[in-house]
Amino acid sequence: MKQIIKIGIIICDRYKACTGGKCFRAMKNKEGAFSIYKDINNLELVGYTTCGECPGGNIEYSPEEMIKNGAEVIHFATGFVVGYPPCPYIDHFKKFIEEKYKVKVVIGTHPIPQKYYITHKALGTWDSKEWKEFIEPTLVDEQIRSAYD
Ligand code: SF4
Repeated sequence: MKQIIKIGIIICDRYKACTGGKCFRAMKNKEGAFSIYKDINNLELVGYTTCGECPGGNIEYSPEEMIKNGAEVIHFATGFVVGYPPCPYIDHFKKFIEEKYKVKVVIGTHPIPQKYYITHKALGTWDSKEWKEFIEPTLVDEQIRSAYD
């Protein structure tokens, strides 16, 4: 069994003042998108940055430094999918990083907070097949979503 996974997190620049509390809690508890690591002993954060404002100039360069620090997976923070509107470039960003840097990209970090879930459900934001796939790692159940409000 692998003992440690090194990860980088890129957040949506709209939340650039965010202190990362929900992401770090979810990492520690292996909740939301971090549940894929339930069999890994330790998760180590080796990079944390923003996309660099729309249309995401930092996406082009930031993975390189994360990978130099050992990043094996890059996560797009949950803000990418819960913002109003969600990031319109998310699919392109994921494909670009995976193609150029040959590193896995996971969409999401902490569970979607329930208050965002309610509003996006009403708006129909995630009704398409594509968006259902994007939110799948962070959807979880209502109890956990509520704990991340
Ligand atoms: S919407 Fe997308 S490109 Fe714009 S700031 Fe957020 S993550 Fe970056």
